[in-house]
This record gives sequence, structure tokens and C-alpha cells, in this order.
Amino acid sequence: MTEFLHKFACFDCHVAFKRQAIENTSSGSAHQSDSEIVHMCPNCGHRMVFMGRNFATPPKSDSSAWAAAKSLWEAGFRFVGSGYHSDPALPKSKSDVPIFIEQNPKHKQRVGTKQQWKNYA
Ligand SMILES: [Zn+2]
Repeated sequence: MTEFLHKFACFDCHVAFKRQAIENTSSGSAHQSDSEIVHMCPNCGHRMVFMGRNFATPPKSDSSAWAAAKSLWEAGFRFVGSGYHSDPALPKSKSDVPIFIEQNPKHKQRVGTKQQWKNYA
């Protein structure tokens, strides 16, 4: 059986790990928008967020990229799907995110629910 793994991230520690999102990984999908399985950060114990299959983990020191990822996640964006659609790519820099969120209310990758990292447990 091929394991179908997704990226889970901790925005406090700036780390991401590949983990299972559902028990039966053979039925996994790249379009999955959230996880059935809860994963805790091995560093700090905070619940890690489901980022989707295609999240490219920024370097730990790139705080702008991590802030962008956090804002996108909080707004409901996930790094899901094939990546091939006509909507603009998700921004990687913090300063580009607010206007991007405002201009893309129906983006193909806006598949998750709005969340707050500080309240996510
Ligand atoms: Zn952590």
C-alpha cells in the first residue's frame, strides 16, 4: 500500500512534516482539504495545521514566507490539488498576502475553513 502523506506545519517553530491525514491512506487524495488525524508539533506540542500535499516548506529563518503561509492558512487556503489551474499562485511573501486574500475570495485553493493559529488546539 502506498502511503499518501500531507504536509503539517507548526507556525511557532517554523517546521513542517509529512504525515498521514486519514487512517486509510490508500484512498488519499491530493485535493483533501483537511485532516482527520491530529498531529502535534514534536518541538512545542502545539497542534500542527494541515497545509495540503503541495506545501513547500520555507527555510526556518524565512519569517516572511512563514508569516505568509500562516495568513493564507488562517484565511482558508490550502496547498492542495495538482497546482494546475488558472488562479494565481499563492504568494510567498508576507507583504503580498493581504491584497491576495482580498482579491481571491473564490480561489481554487481556498478549500478550508477559516481558523486562528493561536486558538488552534
Ligand atoms: Zn512547534
